[in-house]
Amino acid sequence: MTPIRLREGIRKVVAGLQGNGSTVGFVPTMGALHRGHLQVIDIALSQCDHVVVSIYVNPTQFNDAKDLETYPRDLGADVELLLPYGEKVTVFAPDSSEVYGEHVASISYDFQGLEKVMEGSFRPGHFEGVGTVLKLLFKIVQPDKGFFGEKDFQQLQIIRKLVEIENIPIEIIGVPIQRESDGLALSSRNRKLSEAHRNAAPLLHSILQQVRSDFGKKDILSIHKWVADQFQKAPLLNLEYFEIAQTIDLEPVQKIQQGRQYRAFLAVFAGDVRLIDNIALI
Ligand code: AMP
Repeated sequence: MTPIRLREGIRKVVAGLQGNGSTVGFVPTMGALHRGHLQVIDIALSQCDHVVVSIYVNPTQFNDAKDLETYPRDLGADVELLLPYGEKVTVFAPDSSEVYGEHVASISYDFQGLEKVMEGSFRPGHFEGVGTVLKLLFKIVQPDKGFFGEKDFQQLQIIRKLVEIENIPIEIIGVPIQRESDGLALSSRNRKLSEAHRNAAPLLHSILQQVRSDFGKKDILSIHKWVADQFQKAPLLNLEYFEIAQTIDLEPVQKIQQGRQYRAFLAVFAGDVRLIDNIALI
C-alpha cells in the first residue's frame, strides 16, 4: 500500500474505479490514525466499494502555530494500520503544493453562522481553513460520498453547508464518536497528554453524560453552572467553553423547544492539549 503523492495520481485511480462502476468513499484525515479513524473507514467501506483515505496536516486550519508544529505525524505507522484493508483502501498523502498550488491560504467563507459559535469563536480562521482544504480535496478526489466523525460535529455541519454552498455533488455522512473504554473520545491529540492529564480526561465524557440525563429536568442556566463547578473542582482541566446548541444550526440555546434536537459541546485544555467532545441530548 504505497501512498499516492500526486493529485493526478489519485484522480486517475478514482476515475478508473468509477469508470468500472465502483463507488468511492472518501475519509479525509490528518494522520496519527487511531480506532476512531478506522471506524470511519469501516463505515465508508460498508457503503462504498472503495475508500480513499487522505493523510494531510492542513496548515490553514491551525490557529495556533505550536499546535501545528507539534501535531503528531507518522505516515509509516499510519500506512501499517491501514494494511489489513488491502486493495479496498487507497492512501492519498499529498504535500501542500499538491493541495494548494503555490499559495497556501484560506478562502473566505460565510457558513451562515455555523462558523461563528464554539470552535469558530475560539479558533479564528479554523473553519475557513477546513472549508478550503475540503473544497480542494473534494475537487481532486471527486468521491461519491465523504465520511466525517461526529467527534467534530461542528465541522460535520460546516462540511454539509460547504457542499451546499459550492454545489459539490458529494453525499456527506456522519459517523458516531469512538471512545476509549473510560469514555475519552479517541483523538490524535490524546497521545500528547501526560499520564496525569490522560487520567483526568474521561471527566469530559462523564460530565456530558450527566448533562444528557439532566437535560429537560433542570433549566439550561443551572446545567451551565453545574458544568462550570465540576471543572472548578478539576485542577488539571481548564474549561474553555460549554454550550448547549440546536443540532441543525448550532445556535446556542437558553430554552428548550418541543420537537427540536439539541447537543451539548465542550472544549477543555488538559495542560496545553486542547480536547473537544459532544453528545446528543435528545
Ligand atoms: P482528524 O485526523 O482528527 O482530522 O480526523 C479525521 C476524521 O476522523 C474526522 O472526520 C474526525 O471527525 C474523525 N474522527 C476523529 N476521531 C474520531 C472519533 N473518536 N470518533 C469518530 N470519528 C473520529
